Amino acid sequence: MTWESAGFVDHHTHCLYVAHPAEPARRFDSVTAFHRSVQERWSTPMDERYRPLEVTDELRGDLERGLVAARELGLCEITEAGLRDWAYLDALRDLRVRGELPVRVRIFVASGIAELDRMQRIGDPWLEIVGVKLYADGWVGPRTCAMCQPFTDEPDNDGVLFMDADTLASRADPFAEAGWQIATHAIGDRAIETVLDAYEKVYGSDCAAASPRIEHAQVLNPDLIRRMSDLGVVACIQPGFAVSDADSARTGLGGDRWEQSYRWDALLDAGVRVIAGSDFPIESLSPLVGLQRLTTGDFEDGRRAGAPTLPLETALGLMTDASAGVTVLSADPRDVPEDELATIEIVDVRPTGSTD
Ligand SMILES: [Zn+2]
Repeated sequence: MTWESAGFVDHHTHCLYVAHPAEPARRFDSVTAFHRSVQERWSTPMDERYRPLEVTDELRGDLERGLVAARELGLCEITEAGLRDWAYLDALRDLRVRGELPVRVRIFVASGIAELDRMQRIGDPWLEIVGVKLYADGWVGPRTCAMCQPFTDEPDNDGVLFMDADTLASRADPFAEAGWQIATHAIGDRAIETVLDAYEKVYGSDCAAASPRIEHAQVLNPDLIRRMSDLGVVACIQPGFAVSDADSARTGLGGDRWEQSYRWDALLDAGVRVIAGSDFPIESLSPLVGLQRLTTGDFEDGRRAGAPTLPLETALGLMTDASAGVTVLSADPRDVPEDELATIEIVDVRPTGSTD
């Protein structure tokens, strides 16, 4: 028996970039070195320069293959979290002229190339620009996310904050004013606090209506969760991160902070709107792998991580959207043991608007 699900959607991927990588202007030996260098130059990872791409058949073909791969994994819709070059959009428009895209594509433009003049709504369910991606801090693993208190295992290091609240607000404001959604990468508690301060400055009491996003929102505490709920900020979480990070986060954050982090259940309980995205290629693009990690808190190959979990129905709710389409699975996930969810097969994918 097959089972029809609301279509799987991925609210935070780098599918286009992976399909045809733009060449960074500079390369670094480690993520830590990259983040430190970016900070010293008053830049952010979303403002770094890349060698310009040309719209070629190779680019069009690579993007199409990348989107076909996403569809084969069960996705009806992906959101590119930081378009690095307008050539990607031009190539997608060319593909779109020839017919339906393999999946619906939504785009956040990287702050480094975002310009109001170039940002025009397309009005196409298959291809749409939705907003601007900004970047507030680093990551947990390399100990570069911005922390209110230093890392437990690096007492002199409280991470890297790329922008203070005033700077972030002034960069987001023109785009917010023009009606574009803002999505800001923030992992550490100091970064999340900074982004909330910035969103308060930009939106005031209109924040919930604009639904700005915080990407990742990992190092949490009850105060931050309450503020996110009060403001109406959307949390875009990664189903795989808590599992991948578990060992490193336990030692870097220490007891209480680890207990309060990656607590998607606490966000939901507080009424925060939560959506999910893989952050491929950091994690698998497969939504079923994400679903298994989110429900078991362990790796899909059975290795234990002991990360926070969500009930299956809740996890499915974060990863699917009936308005984006239908994904047909080989089995109803509720009939499959949680540690075998990733073995469910994709039978069919029908993004909304498909004619075949
Ligand atoms: Zn990302």
